[in-house]
Amino acid sequence: MSGTVHVLGAGLAGLSAAVKLAAAGTKVVVYEAAGHAGGRCRSFHDTEIDAAIDNGNHLVLSGNHAVMAYLDTIGAEDTLDVVGPARFPFLDLQSGLRWTVEPDRGRIPWSLLSASRRVPGASLGDYLRCWRLAGAGDGKTIESCMKTNGALWDRFWAPIIIAVMNTDPALSSAGPMWRVIKETLALGEAACRPAIPKRGLSHSFVDPALAFLRAQGAAVHFNERIRGLGMTNGRISSIETSSGEVVVASDDRIISALPASVAADLIPDLQAPDRFSAIVNGHFRLPVGHQESPFLGLINATAEWLFVRDGIVSVTVSAADDLALQPAEQIAETFWGEICKAYDLGNLALPAHRVIKERRATFLQTPDQIGRRPDCRTQWGNLFLAGDWTDTSLPATIEGTLRSGFKAAAMINAL
Ligand SMILES: Cc1cc2nc3c(=O)[nH]c(=O)nc-3n(C[C@H](O)[C@H](O)[C@H](O)COP(=O)(O)OP(=O)(O)OC[C@H]3O[C@@H](n4cnc5c(N)ncnc54)[C@H](O)[C@@H]3O)c2cc1C
Repeated sequence: MSGTVHVLGAGLAGLSAAVKLAAAGTKVVVYEAAGHAGGRCRSFHDTEIDAAIDNGNHLVLSGNHAVMAYLDTIGAEDTLDVVGPARFPFLDLQSGLRWTVEPDRGRIPWSLLSASRRVPGASLGDYLRCWRLAGAGDGKTIESCMKTNGALWDRFWAPIIIAVMNTDPALSSAGPMWRVIKETLALGEAACRPAIPKRGLSHSFVDPALAFLRAQGAAVHFNERIRGLGMTNGRISSIETSSGEVVVASDDRIISALPASVAADLIPDLQAPDRFSAIVNGHFRLPVGHQESPFLGLINATAEWLFVRDGIVSVTVSAADDLALQPAEQIAETFWGEICKAYDLGNLALPAHRVIKERRATFLQTPDQIGRRPDCRTQWGNLFLAGDWTDTSLPATIEGTLRSGFKAAAMINAL
């Protein structure tokens, strides 16, 4: 590839595409509207807590091979703590019941033959019936192929599916969820180990990528918003940025790694997901020592997952459009009450905290919206798409995002 590749957007899709291209010796220029990279997956210094926090807790698993390949390329593989053996502790905040999901080492979950290794109240038959998910495609909802009540649903599937799909679990598309299971749970324990950034999202996913790009001679322009694309004879001929027009040479290519709604505004006739779903996070400075597990799933609570790192406990709630309507202080009070109960902290006063509402955390991953995901190729010969909302076949996650960037880069590198 002899020309320049113009990468629009420096979220993880744009960064992964740029990294892959730069590693192959291709000339790359990245344009990012914000003053920083990382998009929906980043860290920043919070003045209230006086520490670096992530915009939201992000969990990846050891089976996410694009994550591992990306970190390996940018030299950041040591920045994740891969916690093994995989254990997922849960607490029912109402009843006080605790249980832990521990995937088997092999592909066949023999341990489920023993009632003590199952989720409390779930029968072997409940587990066996879940295999109907395997045959269901993108057009089916989870509720059309799985029982959406009972112990196994309430205590395992619902909390896992909502965290992965960021959509009402019963109404989520079955296809992407099944592919996640196929690449993690179905492969056994070694593919399910939580991989948690040691010092935050930017330290793992963003800063090393920017350093890598700089070292390869790639240019990254911040505060450079894409305002329009000029189109001539079936190709992109110019890029209008906030600081002027960039003429696209005949052997140049463009990767749009912009959010779905921005891409849909800039690219005529682009069909893209157009409904979104919020995630609410709360970060609290913990006035007491570190907890035993780095994370805990909560049932019968507003908070869904608690993560603890460096004296800060962080709460995640997915599919949180309704919660996001509440004032931040009200949300903080609710979360803190539940944290105190979960960790037996008594009535500790609300500490320094920050609530972050990401109203468009991902697109809504129902069959209808999944069906609107476009392919990487477009009708414009030199324009390619990347992003978690493009047709990655996976849910809108880091793993899918990185694969979309890699795919766009591979298509261009192959030209
Ligand atoms: C709170 C939260 C929690 C999450 N939890 C998880 C998790 O646990 N596990 C997981 O795998 N995934 C999780 N995700 C999803 C994951 O963060 C996303 O899938 C991924 O970051 C999407 O990356 P992207 O590059 O496709 O999009 P974005 O990150 O949105 O990147 C797009 C970039 O384009 C820039 N941009 C926008 N408009 C313009 C313009 N006009 N000109 C130039 N640049 C522009 C933006 O500033 C941004 O940097 C979570 C997301 C959120 C928000």
